[in-house]
Amino acid sequence: MKKLYFLNAITGKPLKIYLVFVTVLFVLFIMYFTYFKPKPVLSKPARQIFDDYKHPVHRESPFEGAKIVHIDLKGAPLRVSYYKTLFPLLSKLGASGVLMEYEDMFPYNSRLLKNISALNAYTYEDIKYINDLAHQNRLEVIPLLQTFGHLEFLLKLEEFRDLREVPDYPQVICPTHEKTMDLLMEMIDQVVDSHPRSKTIHIGADEVYYLGFCDRCANIMTKFNLSKNMLFLEHVNGITRRVHKKYPDLKILMWDDEFRSFSLKELKNGDLRYIQPVVWKYSKDVYEELGPSLWDMYSDVFPNVWVASAFKGATGIVLLQQSSGWKYFNYK
Ligand SMILES: [Zn+2]
Repeated sequence: MKKLYFLNAITGKPLKIYLVFVTVLFVLFIMYFTYFKPKPVLSKPARQIFDDYKHPVHRESPFEGAKIVHIDLKGAPLRVSYYKTLFPLLSKLGASGVLMEYEDMFPYNSRLLKNISALNAYTYEDIKYINDLAHQNRLEVIPLLQTFGHLEFLLKLEEFRDLREVPDYPQVICPTHEKTMDLLMEMIDQVVDSHPRSKTIHIGADEVYYLGFCDRCANIMTKFNLSKNMLFLEHVNGITRRVHKKYPDLKILMWDDEFRSFSLKELKNGDLRYIQPVVWKYSKDVYEELGPSLWDMYSDVFPNVWVASAFKGATGIVLLQQSSGWKYFNYK
């Protein structure tokens, strides 16, 4: 009661009126944030697609797009024998394909590439077996080969050290080094040749942390007045033009994250006609967390856009235990 008397003394008005006034203000405050606060305008078709995706039980018609499971073989690759268990299960669960990120588990075999493969890499017979097994289970195999960042499995080797964008880190390949394009195309050729049924290839290109760092790239950027985004596009388009010319029927996918800093104008001028971006985010709502403007921009530029969330892993590099709730909603 002491407190109420104190308030009464401050306002100089009857306590009852003061309390009513405060209560009305509080209710208005709550109502504003609940009902009246302007909400961002969402792109309706994209929002509807995502709602449909998020609530499959309420769909009027089944989802008819491709459903691809990413199998990342870095670090702890699957034994070949396990695919016989895995592929029928994925097929039964509704998957239409697998994205195979081989890294050093692919049996590169030319003079230039022979040291890339790990000692326990799959053999060509293994790759054929995996492809045949996928086919039997109605799964398309999409090989993923990184062509810009995340080339640690290649750049860690002494013989490719010169191709690093930054000498201390084997993460990014220098896009302007004279040997880069030939090396990447040789890798792509070997991967494509060993996947005769595949209609799609994924060229990675996510998390290119070091762009325009080396002297050669910096000089070229100055000489031709290129921004980092333009340098990125030069390399990606160099790859996709070559792939399309040699394999005109192949669809080309790539991760989208480097495009997120682009303006609409930059993307539209980027000549990205051969690329279908795969928008990825390790979160339960890929639409909301990336924001409506990104989806609007992509839908303006790309006729086809893919979406990728994560079922397991990738929540933190030092995580000892997964958050099961997070992953449940992620998977849902
Ligand atoms: Zn460089």
